[in-house]
Amino acid sequence: MGKKDVEKIVIALGGNAILQPGQRGTYEEQLKNVERACEQIAELVVKGFNIVLTHGNGPQVGNILIQNEQGAKLVPSMPLDVCGAQSQGMIGYMLQRTLKKALANMGCKAEIATIITQVVVDRQDPSFGNPSKPVGPFYNEETAKAKMAAGESWIEDANRGWRKVVPSPEPQKIVEAEVIKKLIEAGVLVIASGGGGIPVVEESDGVYRGVEAVIDKDLAGQRLATEIGADMFIILTDVPGVAINYRKENESWLRAVSLEEIRRYEAEGHFKKGSMNPKVKACLRFAELTNKPAVIASLDKLLEAIEGKSGTRFLPS
Ligand code: ADP
Ligand code: MG
Repeated sequence: MGKKDVEKIVIALGGNAILQPGQRGTYEEQLKNVERACEQIAELVVKGFNIVLTHGNGPQVGNILIQNEQGAKLVPSMPLDVCGAQSQGMIGYMLQRTLKKALANMGCKAEIATIITQVVVDRQDPSFGNPSKPVGPFYNEETAKAKMAAGESWIEDANRGWRKVVPSPEPQKIVEAEVIKKLIEAGVLVIASGGGGIPVVEESDGVYRGVEAVIDKDLAGQRLATEIGADMFIILTDVPGVAINYRKENESWLRAVSLEEIRRYEAEGHFKKGSMNPKVKACLRFAELTNKPAVIASLDKLLEAIEGKSGTRFLPS
């Protein structure tokens, strides 16, 4: 697919693109990790594509939560929505720097901007009655019990200890969609909706309040892609695409799939909750709503994925 077919592309970067498991998460490590993705994105910009970038924030917001907790005796702790905003700024800055450098190396002077993004959720969302998304590090039982007595929800992970869980509501609307669209029209490379966006509920017309929750970054990325009228939605992660019978001896990687086919696999339970399932759901929704293709591909295969030579492509009906 060439420039004429695709103009606006929303790319979602997985958490591993920024902080790999086992790393400590120093600034230098994270800057280094985003280099490869940024080089490929810069190439797309040079080719004339309009790129909007979104990204995960799990490890980063986890570290910010630890900093808040350990520093609580010295300075006030910030609520989760503020920590989410901090992570958007931090990751946005790292991406801006690295993208700028990659573009400069190609003699391109594109403008880049990170938008602190709020995403509206429904306060009636069933997830508020059933918090299930783990946030922050593992703790011992004593700490967990004390926090539960104070009204928080925690779960025990058989081998690793206790973890706080928060609701994971469906994204309804991107609050900053209009300003993002204006920037895209002006040719700016926009970074938005980081970490699935900051979840907010609408108090009254146009008045929002942050809530303690985490929106799935792939589902929020789909909302963003749909609202800005993207021609393609691409999720980059640490596997080559979508597999059926994943990690079984009859594992088979999917290349191009009809929505009907992938819906059937989803119903058969091929995609793990919390990892591949939300990605599949996000791509299905994008292709259904827009009649445009969505792709799940490996982080180092962005250019091939756009041309249909790598990854799993969801073909609209
Ligand atoms: P990200 O940080 O990019 O969002 P996730 O860990 O949430 O990454 O999701 C990617 C992971 O999904 C892969 O590393 C893989 O282990 C897992 N996965 C679960 N089911 C499947 C499947 N059917 N096909 C491919 N990967 C799968
Ligand atoms: Mg994920």
